[in-house]
Amino acid sequence: MTQIFDNPADFADEALDGFVAANRGYVARVDGGVVRSTEVPAGQVALVVGGGSGHYPAFAGLVGPGLAAASACGNMFASPAAGQVYRVARAASSGGGVLLSYGNYAGDVLHFGQAQLRLNAEGIETRTVLVTDDIASAPLDQIEKRRGIAGDLTVFKIAGAAAEAGLDLDDVERLAIRTNYRTRSLGVAFDGCTLPGADAPLFSVPAGQMSLGLGIHGEPGISEHPMPTASELAELLVTRLLADKPHDAGSRVVAIVNGLGTVKYDELFLLFGKIEKLLLTAGLTVVEPECGELVTSLDMSGLSLTLLWLDDELEQYWAAPADTPAFRKGSMAPRAARQLAAADAEVTSDVEPPSTAAAELGRRAAAILRQVRDVVVEHEAELGRLDAIAGDGDHGIGMRRGVDAAVAAAEQAAADDGGASAARVLTSAGEAWSERAGGTSGALWGSAVIAAGLSLGNRDSYSGEDAAAVITAFVGAITELGKAEPGDKTMVDALLPFRDTFLTAFDGGASVAEALAAAATVARAAADDTAKLRPLKGRARPLAEKSLGHPDPGAISFALIAARISAHTDSRLAHPEPAQQGVQA
Ligand code: ADP
Ligand code: MG
Repeated sequence: MTQIFDNPADFADEALDGFVAANRGYVARVDGGVVRSTEVPAGQVALVVGGGSGHYPAFAGLVGPGLAAASACGNMFASPAAGQVYRVARAASSGGGVLLSYGNYAGDVLHFGQAQLRLNAEGIETRTVLVTDDIASAPLDQIEKRRGIAGDLTVFKIAGAAAEAGLDLDDVERLAIRTNYRTRSLGVAFDGCTLPGADAPLFSVPAGQMSLGLGIHGEPGISEHPMPTASELAELLVTRLLADKPHDAGSRVVAIVNGLGTVKYDELFLLFGKIEKLLLTAGLTVVEPECGELVTSLDMSGLSLTLLWLDDELEQYWAAPADTPAFRKGSMAPRAARQLAAADAEVTSDVEPPSTAAAELGRRAAAILRQVRDVVVEHEAELGRLDAIAGDGDHGIGMRRGVDAAVAAAEQAAADDGGASAARVLTSAGEAWSERAGGTSGALWGSAVIAAGLSLGNRDSYSGEDAAAVITAFVGAITELGKAEPGDKTMVDALLPFRDTFLTAFDGGASVAEALAAAATVARAAADDTAKLRPLKGRARPLAEKSLGHPDPGAISFALIAARISAHTDSRLAHPEPAQQGVQA
C-alpha cells in the first residue's frame, strides 16, 4: 500500500520532484522527466529511456554518465506522453543523435514513436530499440511481441556504456539490439501491487500460491503454482530461461535477481546463491551479476531472474563504469554541471481571432467535453475493473485523468479574451488529454480529439456534413496511429460500426441527432460483442484467454461516451438554449 502522498493524482510528479531534489548532482528536472545535470561531451549519442512511474530505479534512477542521458517519466504505470518524450529527448540531445530505449508496451510504443517522428523531422536523428526480455509474454519465435521487464537494465547499461565510449548512433543501436536479443527474464509474484489512492490491489495471488510470468505493470501472471521452496523456485526460473536461450548463447552470462518491491534483500540473496550454483552446474560462468531492486512494480511482492548471454564486445560494455543515482559500477571522474536551455513551451492558438459565433461554437465543444467527463467519472471504477481482468487496471483512472485535463484545457481556451474556436478548444483539449492520461487510450483519444478539432476548424457554423467529417477524422486518427484491425479486440471494434452506422443513416436522410442515436446504439452492441474476441493488440494480448467472455474496456468506454454525446445532442435539439446560455450545456 502506498501511504505517503497529499493527492494521489500528483503522486508521480511529486515523487519525481523529490527524487531530483535528492540527486541534483546527477539530474535536473525538465517537463516530462529528467536529464543529466552534468556535462555531456558534444557529439555523444543520447540514450533516452523511460516509461511509466512506479518502477524505481527504472527509469529516472538510471540517468548519469555511462548509462542514460535522460528519462521520460510518465504517470504511475502509464507511458509518458509524446510531447514529454520529445521535450526530454531534445533537452538530452548533444548532437550525436538519440537512441530511445524502453520496454515494449503499446502505450509507450505509441508515444515514443510519435516523438521519434517529430525529432527526426526536426533533424535530430533518432532510433528506437525496444526491450523484449519477458519470456512469459510470447513464445521465442515472436520475440518482438514480448514485453520488457528487468532486461531493461542490460540493454540500457550496454547502450549507455557504448555511448559513453564515443561510439556512433549506428553502433550504439547495434549493441542495444544485440543485448536485447541475448537477454531473457522471467518473473514471479506472491502478491499484487496497489496504485496510490486505490483501495485494492490491481490483482492478488491466493495465499500459498505463486503466480508465474507477471509483468511490471501489475498484469497478473500466466499460471499459478503452489508456493515453492527457494530451491524449487531457483530451479524453475533457471530451467525456463536456459530452455529459451539464444542460438549462439556461449557460456558467459550476466545474472540479475531483481526484487519487484517488497521482497527483502536477504531473500533475494538467498535465492541468488541457489541460482548461481545451478548456473555453474549448467556449465556457465556468471559475470558481474546484480542482486537487488532494479526494476520494481510499486509494492508488488515478487521477483524476476534475468540472464544476458555475453559475447566479448557486450562484456566490455557491461563491465564499463557507470555513475547514476541508483546504479554505480567502477569509478568515474567527477563531471562539471551543465547549463540547460529551457525547452520551448508549446502554444496552440487561433491564427485568426474567432468571431462571436465561432467562439460560441468553441464553448459548445467544451460543453460536450464536460459531458464526456461526466460519463467517464460515473464509470471510472467499472472501466478499471474491466481493464484489470487481462490488462493493467488503469483504463478508468487513465480516462479520468485525460478527460479532466482535457476539460480544464478546453475551458481555459474558451475563457480567453474573445473566446476560442472549436478547433482551438479541441486541439488544446486533445494535447492535454494525451499529456495527462498517458497509456494507449490516452494517446489515441488525445490524437482523435485533436483530429476532430482540426476537422472543425475556426468557423461560424457547422452543417450535418461537418458532423460526418468530424466523426470520420476522429476514427481515422485512432486507426492510423494504433493500427488495430477489426477483430483485434480494441475500441476500433466499436468505432468502425459507429462511424459506418452514422454515415449510412445520415446519407439516407436521417438528421445528425437520429444518425448519432443509431450509431451509439450500434457501438454499444459492438462493444458488448467484443466479449467473444481474444485481444490481439495492447496490454491485454498476453492474457488473451482471461479476457474471453469480457468486453474490451476501451470499446466500452467509447460506447458509453457515444451514448452520452448522443443524448446530449438530442436534448439540446429538443430544448434549444437561448444564445446567451450556450455555455452551460
Ligand atoms: P493501456 O493499455 O496503456 O493500459 P488503457 O488501459 O487506458 O491503456 O486502454 C486500454 C484500451 O486501449 C483497450 O481496451 C483498447 O480498447 C485500446 N487499445 C489498445 N491498443 C489499441 C490500438 N492499437 N488501437 C486502438 N485501441 C487500442
Ligand atoms: Mg490499461
